[in-house]
Amino acid sequence: MEDKDFYCDFVLNNKIEVKREIETTSVLSFHHTNPSWTFHVVVVPKQHISKITTVEDVSLFKEIFSVIKEIILKYKLDEINYKVITNGGDFQDSKHLHFHLVSGEPILKK
Ligand SMILES: [Zn+2]
Repeated sequence: MEDKDFYCDFVLNNKIEVKREIETTSVLSFHHTNPSWTFHVVVVPKQHISKITTVEDVSLFKEIFSVIKEIILKYKLDEINYKVITNGGDFQDSKHLHFHLVSGEPILKK
């Protein structure tokens, strides 16, 4: 199967418009275009990095989790619920490192 990379192919090159959240030098966060939860934000490095195990400069993790922390605080997700998810191997659809920050209720899809 060909490697899909939704983030480089559509989001980071502005081919589709996304509702942006916090943006830093190396990290972009935005609301998922096809959310699985009532609150569903995706956090990605702006440079192409395929997966967690190919991250060379681990200060990226600090930046990613700082962004996640700020969004949790902004939306007071501590008072509701939230989880942070990242995927690898067969679980990873888009081959660009990304973290899901989800909260609320799952959105059931057919
Ligand atoms: Zn990419």
